[in-house]
Amino acid sequence: MTDFIGPEPVLRMSIQTVRHDICQSSLQEQLRLWRNISGCRQAKLYLQGPDLGLTRFALRLSRNELRLIVGLITGHIALNKHLSVMKISTDPICPLCKEAEETAMHFLGQCAATMHLRLKLMGSAILTSEEIRQMTLCTLLNFAKLTKRFKFVWVAHWTYYGLSVGWRWPPGRKGKGHVRKLSTNSF
Ligand SMILES: [Zn+2]
Repeated sequence: MTDFIGPEPVLRMSIQTVRHDICQSSLQEQLRLWRNISGCRQAKLYLQGPDLGLTRFALRLSRNELRLIVGLITGHIALNKHLSVMKISTDPICPLCKEAEETAMHFLGQCAATMHLRLKLMGSAILTSEEIRQMTLCTLLNFAKLTKRFKFVWVAHWTYYGLSVGWRWPPGRKGKGHVRKLSTNSF
């Protein structure tokens, strides 16, 4: 160990302590930014702040699964309400029950057409936003997949000609890689 050069008294700290303090400081700063940022209203219902457990879970997902769960959490997903806000669809109503606007909250907790699946997977046919928040993301992801609501995966990417959007078959399905012309009833 080298001799200390500087004002005394000297307080020795292990490298592990320094790393831990830097990590904690970083997490505190991320939490402060998350709480103070305007917007992200729906995402804040699910995500209270940085969560290493959720990060590890997300890193194990496929790209399509990650896209799906992020869409459900943020509300930016190919459900009719969001599509109508984006002016891609003119009908915000849920195509499954035709009783309410198809928001992520409706899809996850209130749609009458998927009550049996919700009861089986989550223990209740109807869930409040707070009850949805208490579900694990793995449960929400499994529910979304089992409803088969997302037959195609929404893709949007920049090309030489500009922004290209459309529905793509999930990997392993017939027509892999083909981007369909945008249509509101193709999912
Ligand atoms: Zn519905």
